[in-house]
Amino acid sequence: MTPDVRDRAGRPSRANSLTGTAVPEAAWDRAVRLIGQAEEIALACHVTPDGDALGSMLAVGFALRSMGKRVVASFGDHHFVVPRLLRFLPGQEMLVPPEDYPAAPSLMITFDASTFERLGLLRDNTARAREVIVMDHHPSNEGFGTLSLIDSTAAATAMLAEQLIYRLRGRLDRDIATCLYAGLVTDTGSFRHSSTTPAVHQMAARLVATGLRTDEIARELWDRSPFGYLKVLAAALDRAVLEDGLVWTYVTRVDRAAQGLPYAELEGIIDIVRRTDEAEVAVVLKEDDHGHWQVSTRSKGRADVGAVCAALGGGGHHNAAGYTSYDSVEKTMAAFRRELGKV
Ligand code: AMP
Ligand code: MN
Ligand code: MN
Repeated sequence: MTPDVRDRAGRPSRANSLTGTAVPEAAWDRAVRLIGQAEEIALACHVTPDGDALGSMLAVGFALRSMGKRVVASFGDHHFVVPRLLRFLPGQEMLVPPEDYPAAPSLMITFDASTFERLGLLRDNTARAREVIVMDHHPSNEGFGTLSLIDSTAAATAMLAEQLIYRLRGRLDRDIATCLYAGLVTDTGSFRHSSTTPAVHQMAARLVATGLRTDEIARELWDRSPFGYLKVLAAALDRAVLEDGLVWTYVTRVDRAAQGLPYAELEGIIDIVRRTDEAEVAVVLKEDDHGHWQVSTRSKGRADVGAVCAALGGGGHHNAAGYTSYDSVEKTMAAFRRELGKV
């Protein structure tokens, strides 16, 4: 077990290996220096942000703002809306649409984006930025910036964000804690995934101690949806197929249009499909507003779906990964089965 090393102020000490073993001290020091020198800092997270992407970004945004920095934050979606599930997060006044983002930021920080492509419309801005700090926990991240704060042992980018905030001498207030907690619970599946280490619970304890409402956050994230979701879910489950340890289904634009359901509402379907006892791997194909398939995949541990999805142009983790397919459902599944057979 990793020891919980604290400094005299009760903060995780610099020698602490709770999360940060993969990030060299020199990298943290350089990040703190770059931030210290900057007047304006541009933050970006991956497209169609989840709780970890948006939560980490807004948490760091709060800390930077309290240091007197000008902060802009965004994500590079064509249709720039915060998913309904995440609208409860504080700090959304920091968000600007991609068209209002600085064209060539002097300092940029990216959150939870495993590749340059995951920045979507903000790719050009990133390419023109003078310094780009990449904060992430995806094992596949090769570091597309000028400084990497990447720790693939961290359960969430939020764990790295907390470390950065401490190192900036930021105070963990309730707003910051709410954002970080959203990241931590999202990426650990409410402390259920194998990534849930003692360090995760220790961090959760620090966050909950600020007085945040874990019950309200859980309800916002998982326990509510418009009525139309039930109908779309029913259609998806009705079409589910079980074949040789693989369970899969799909949701079309037409399904959603019939119920007026936005794409972002589909996130939880994979969590129901993956329950299937008979299947080791679960797949949900979700047709987005452009008619492309966003493929969500989950493994129970034996198969590395991260490797499968990376081979198909996406990425992710061993047990949770995804990619975009521009083919039909049939062709997409054929390609998926072929790659799954190789791992
Ligand atoms: P999701 O199924 O959308 O919850 O995604 C699961 C994980 O797969 C995410 O945390 C990402 O790391 C990764 N992922 C999903 N979609 C993509 C994509 N298009 N490209 C790269 N990684 C992805
Ligand atoms: Mn993410
Ligand atoms: Mn993450």
